[in-house]
Amino acid sequence: MRLSPAARSLGIVLLVLTALLGSAYAIARSLVPDGLGSGVTTSATGPHYGDQPPPSGEPGTRPSRSGDPAGPRKDTGEAEIVDGIRTYGARSTTGTSTVALTFDDGPDPRYTPQVLAILRDFNVTATFCVVGENASNHPDLIQAIVADGHTLCNHTWNHDVTLGARSPDRIRADLLRTTEAIRAAAPDAPIAYYRQPGGAWTYPVVSVAQELGMIPLHWTVDPADWRVPGAGHIASTVTTGVEPGAVVLLHDAGGDRQGTVDALYRILPDLTSRFQVAALPPDPT
Ligand SMILES: [Zn+2]
Repeated sequence: MRLSPAARSLGIVLLVLTALLGSAYAIARSLVPDGLGSGVTTSATGPHYGDQPPPSGEPGTRPSRSGDPAGPRKDTGEAEIVDGIRTYGARSTTGTSTVALTFDDGPDPRYTPQVLAILRDFNVTATFCVVGENASNHPDLIQAIVADGHTLCNHTWNHDVTLGARSPDRIRADLLRTTEAIRAAAPDAPIAYYRQPGGAWTYPVVSVAQELGMIPLHWTVDPADWRVPGAGHIASTVTTGVEPGAVVLLHDAGGDRQGTVDALYRILPDLTSRFQVAALPPDPT
């Protein structure tokens, strides 16, 4: 397709504006959880953060074509791209036909117990990517997650979307502190996965997670529930976007997640009628 110079210029201006707005938004969001400190998750206002993709990527619903079903590669220098996000080899699919629901940013006493109850009703296990300070504040919820047979995933100490840009030592310290907080609540529960907040993967963060024995875990279906688009929108995005092997990104904390909770009443009957839906294996080989 040939574009006139004017159309091309307009396109470039729009791209730059989109990138600038996206960056400003990402930075603003990244500052919120960092600035509030611990204990705020029990307040009515709570921190508001989610796993929005970097500005270059639109929230995607297309299952990954470039994900590595065999799991993360040893050589993560190659920057794979899933829906516009560089994943540096982080796993984007389950590697089997099983579909995995993942719940990020918790635990949160308002929503995590509701999510656990619905999952129990449908006899489905899921993967919970928990934030260290929330785990530290709500060890009972970590224990409830483990007691129901769900899989745990490390999601940094305080949801640092810029963690990947820090030194390997800083990254290692953050991940270890988070793992320690989870272990304090559930000493024997495996923590086999790591998810980078915001999907802001870098080579160092993927490497350190692997070095600590965790599989970097991205996703294939993102209904952007952190934008609070309503239960109907969340449910339809998930049910139309899921294919065998999909990893679905949802949130049980970080803002008003009632829409996500309500969406599960539509998502679970649909997905369980078409797919095997289960947690990622807690002890992957
Ligand atoms: Zn998150």
